[in-house]
Amino acid sequence: MGPNYISLSQKLKKSKKKVKINYMIILAIETSCDDTCIAILESKGHKKPCFSILSNIVSSQVKIHQKWGGVYPTLAKREHQKNLPLVLKRALNKAKNPKVDLVAVTVGPGLDPCLWTGVNFAKDLAKKSDLSIIPVNHIEAHILANFINEQRARSKEQLFPAICLVVSGGHTQLILMRGYGKYKILGETRDDAAGECFDKIARILGLGYPGGPAIATEAAKSAYRERFSVSLPRPMIYQRNYDFSFSGLKTAVLYNFKSQSEKIRKSKKYIQAISAEAQQAIIDVLIKKTIRAAKDYKAKTIILGGGVSANNELRKQFNHKLKTINYKLIFLVPSKKFCTDNAAMVAVTAYFHWFWGKEKKPKGVKENFVLFDAFASYESSVIEANANLRLE
Ligand code: ADP
Ligand code: MG
Repeated sequence: MGPNYISLSQKLKKSKKKVKINYMIILAIETSCDDTCIAILESKGHKKPCFSILSNIVSSQVKIHQKWGGVYPTLAKREHQKNLPLVLKRALNKAKNPKVDLVAVTVGPGLDPCLWTGVNFAKDLAKKSDLSIIPVNHIEAHILANFINEQRARSKEQLFPAICLVVSGGHTQLILMRGYGKYKILGETRDDAAGECFDKIARILGLGYPGGPAIATEAAKSAYRERFSVSLPRPMIYQRNYDFSFSGLKTAVLYNFKSQSEKIRKSKKYIQAISAEAQQAIIDVLIKKTIRAAKDYKAKTIILGGGVSANNELRKQFNHKLKTINYKLIFLVPSKKFCTDNAAMVAVTAYFHWFWGKEKKPKGVKENFVLFDAFASYESSVIEANANLRLE
């Protein structure tokens, strides 16, 4: 970290009062991959808190990584260092420079150099402003992004148990959620993540990065009849486990593409048809396995999160499928801007952790479950980035 970078991070206006459970402002930082994000969240009330996002700034590095067809970690780190002070300034301005009570930061999972940049920035900011830091798990943040809108605040009895499908560029996981803060990973991808599969297929087809939105756009243009001209596998769809595998699908696309003549490869119809089929293959597997898990665990809710959950067809087909099964399931999916990486979800997750820490809730989190032990490090105030920390 260069001296220029340190001097640019500013002191926050600190709330003079002790942090109150009924009202607080959280400033959150997210740099786990290629987006530099800072959000400021206001929370009112505590039993059913009402959240307002005062600002939610995302500085995307898409253009920089486009030529690599994926994220280049050292380049991403450099960009985070450059962007963080600017993004902070914008976030504070947009939120009208509020008095901040807590700082939150994503500590993992993610790309190590990128995580460290955010963690060091948060530490520096918190130290200067004499504020506490709450470390946040990125996967949990994708899940809790669904609770940003307070109208979603149904009772625990109505919501849980829930099955969460987190689908992003780095992760594809099915998680059993028995309550706030109580998670268990049921299955995950054995190779590529669903978003990574979209990205790699887009690269094969020459559609650029990020691949998800590019494939979705091409797929939407595909004429109904054309779609059946390409047939791709649905890996592991009938296996009675909750794991996924997407690298075979990518390879199948590659072989199909290579087997075509130059003329066909360049034809719009073919690109649209193979995009539609690849997207459908991913959707079929995701929906089938998620609904099976929901049935097996008698879930009351299905919760989606992560960049791939922004996919229109996935959202639409999930909704449709849930109407055809013979029992009622609540379906939660974040608004699109909270599907891909953002810091608002980090702020909300930090709120829940702070609240649980305060109230010593939920009971038995440590014995029963998961959460990577964010609070242990919070209490001893040793916040460290850890690329390998994850829900387990
Ligand atoms: P990360 O993996 O770093 O947590 P995100 O949660 O932001 O990142 O997810 C990014 C991934 O989501 C990328 O792989 C991207 O292709 C995918 N994605 C984004 N929008 C869509 C979409 N509309 N359809 C399918 N995939 C999408
Ligand atoms: Mg993410």
